[in-house]
Amino acid sequence: MHYYSLVKNSPNVDFRTAAITGQAPDRGLYFPNTILKFTAAQIESFKTLDKASLAFEVMKPYVGGTIDDASLKEICAETINFDFPLVPITENILSLELFHGPTLAFKDVGARFMSRCLGYFSKEKKENERNSNLTKSSDDNATNKPTTVLVATSGDTGGAVANGFLGVDGVNVIILYPKGKVSPIQELQLTTCGQNITALEVEGSFDDCQAIVKEAFIDADLNEQYNLTSANSINVARWLPQQLYYFFAWQNWVAKYQDAQGNYPAMNIVVPSGNFGNICAGMMAKASGLPLGHFIAACNANDVVTRYLTTEKYEIHKAVATVSNAMDVGNPSNFVRILEILENNFPALTKSLSSYSINDTTTKDTIARVYKTNNYTLDPHGAVAFAAAEIYLANLEKNNTSSNAQYNNSAIILETAHPVKFPEVVEEAIGQIIAIPESVKFLLDKKKVSIPLAANYTAFKNWMINLI
Ligand SMILES: *Cc1c(COP(=O)(O)O)cnc(C)c1O
Repeated sequence: MHYYSLVKNSPNVDFRTAAITGQAPDRGLYFPNTILKFTAAQIESFKTLDKASLAFEVMKPYVGGTIDDASLKEICAETINFDFPLVPITENILSLELFHGPTLAFKDVGARFMSRCLGYFSKEKKENERNSNLTKSSDDNATNKPTTVLVATSGDTGGAVANGFLGVDGVNVIILYPKGKVSPIQELQLTTCGQNITALEVEGSFDDCQAIVKEAFIDADLNEQYNLTSANSINVARWLPQQLYYFFAWQNWVAKYQDAQGNYPAMNIVVPSGNFGNICAGMMAKASGLPLGHFIAACNANDVVTRYLTTEKYEIHKAVATVSNAMDVGNPSNFVRILEILENNFPALTKSLSSYSINDTTTKDTIARVYKTNNYTLDPHGAVAFAAAEIYLANLEKNNTSSNAQYNNSAIILETAHPVKFPEVVEEAIGQIIAIPESVKFLLDKKKVSIPLAANYTAFKNWMINLI
């Protein structure tokens, strides 16, 4: 397995290089040269395989021998060592709860996998250096550069990356977050780790943080001094493991609905989407043979893809702020990967993917209504998905003239974060305080440590240059 750049102007690389560098030199996203094709027999065996073994089977070909099997097994087992329950909300909408990881959002899976891979590669590099030092005296500057993960966050990524990378030897993490614009739990998650994790509290917006990070990656001085890499979903080591929870959801679905003949209704999936990394991973899982149903991208007011699917015109706008702020993305980076999976075929795309845009009023109303009617507390991102699922299912009903088994009047939504991460919006909608889960209570006794930073690149660069 190797990875090519979607800009097609860089050399192919292995998984190790793709994970360490994040993006290709031509600034393209890396894409695997083959999408796995599981056989029917393999798929059948996946129905009952334990989660860790399934994770290993799915990830091993993508890692392509750059991590030994025993280590990869361990990495996979650690990555997914929490629950991924499929919980009914209504008669025909179920919630795949992806918030049972350490930082209460789905990004834990990708961050845990990626951090452990980089930890493995860093250790391997040190061992190689030790061995080669016996034979030659090396003053090669490149090998001495520390690996530094730079990441801008609107909330969830920072916490997941901090938690995933905490204590990983040979890797430093610098998180930029917008002052006053992340929730209290989110802020504690990214500012209380210490050790190899540094939080920069930027006097600006998420877009300012993102702009600083982008500039850093092309800054020759910084790249001379550091081995910079990114930890968002453009990195294949963060993006690809997100396939796993689609496999787990499908296992659950089959266990629940399979009849004596082995048939079960199609599993339609609604994914709250921002950068489209998550839904793109699901579409990879389907392309590799996992029998999933239709995909629905649930978007907030940032609806570039929703519009594209009806007009075939890709018109980017500046991101607008919404209550589902982890999806406030004006130009989703991973959409090009979806196009690649479907070989840039527009009819094939519209056949596999629908998208709806949900406004803030509907999002808040949905949280209130589902709480009242179904006694289920959605977070704002899950609420966008729920509202989109209702529209999709209503349309399906209207258009379904056949009894085609392909069609099914139910859907699962991905509940991508715990509601306690967005208390302002959710508590107002449900008129209740959300209890803080036991697993994050320890954070409340911790002291926030952050470095204030002006929202301009020079301030950031000066700070970085003086760091080592
Ligand atoms: C990051 C995030 C999303 C968006 O996921 P993408 O992979 O960027 O589409 C949705 N919901 C929550 C809670 C998130 O943190």
